[in-house]
Amino acid sequence: MKGLIFSVKRYSVHDGPGIRVTFFMKGCPLSCWWCHNLEGISPEQQTVVQTRKVGEKEFHRDEQVGKFYSTGDIIEILERERIFFEQSGGGVTFSGGEPLMQHEFLLEALKACMEHGFNTAVDTSGYSSAESFISIMPFTDVFLFDLKHPDDARHVEYTGVSNIRIIENLRMIIDNGKNVMIRIPVIPGKNDDEATLIEMRDLLMSLKRDNLLKISLLPFHRIGMAKYNKFGLAYRMNHTMPPSTQRMNYLKHFFSETGIKVRLGG
Ligand code: SF4
Repeated sequence: MKGLIFSVKRYSVHDGPGIRVTFFMKGCPLSCWWCHNLEGISPEQQTVVQTRKVGEKEFHRDEQVGKFYSTGDIIEILERERIFFEQSGGGVTFSGGEPLMQHEFLLEALKACMEHGFNTAVDTSGYSSAESFISIMPFTDVFLFDLKHPDDARHVEYTGVSNIRIIENLRMIIDNGKNVMIRIPVIPGKNDDEATLIEMRDLLMSLKRDNLLKISLLPFHRIGMAKYNKFGLAYRMNHTMPPSTQRMNYLKHFFSETGIKVRLGG
């Protein structure tokens, strides 16, 4: 079996414990307004036109997005980094897109990674069936779990899907004793008003906290903005600026009241 992957990041220190290799898998059922991983949205291989400007001249070239990897390919890549994993307590992370969109391949890859002694992490939007999560849980050491908005109607508005299933899956994973790191994107004007923050904090405090390793607050940024043209998509965050350092520090303090470790960034 092969999985469709759009990027492989080595020496990643923001996608789970230690130094990791992150595989970004194609396909995502969400359409977040602030998404900067546009390569991960379509489940298909794509060809996009890359435009480069040199002086007044524009150069175009086709760029293929997505390449098929077998489980063997993945293990081969990881073996090259084994020494870094051993020294740092790192391993492999499957991210996306939404990695559970390629559930069968993900399951096979996680099993193989575990058999070879690699620490495994899955970075997920939480939007998949409970059965899919149950099947991968025994082969996943840690989940990086995104919480984008605690209010269902606003979650639908900003991501295209309800958060009910997401929150149910999160509770199930935690209740099954799995280690979880929560990731909250901080999107000014969308999920950082006082009422939303209180609702988010209440949600976090309603979870069993024994296995909640940390909360990462990920500030909105505009780095992916240029990709929207390339993928023929409309950018909806034109009037939003990244939150200030002062604001992020305030939020760190705010969420620390949950008793869970809070970190700015991944
Ligand atoms: S879940 Fe992640 S990859 Fe999917 S649309 Fe949202 S930000 Fe993009």
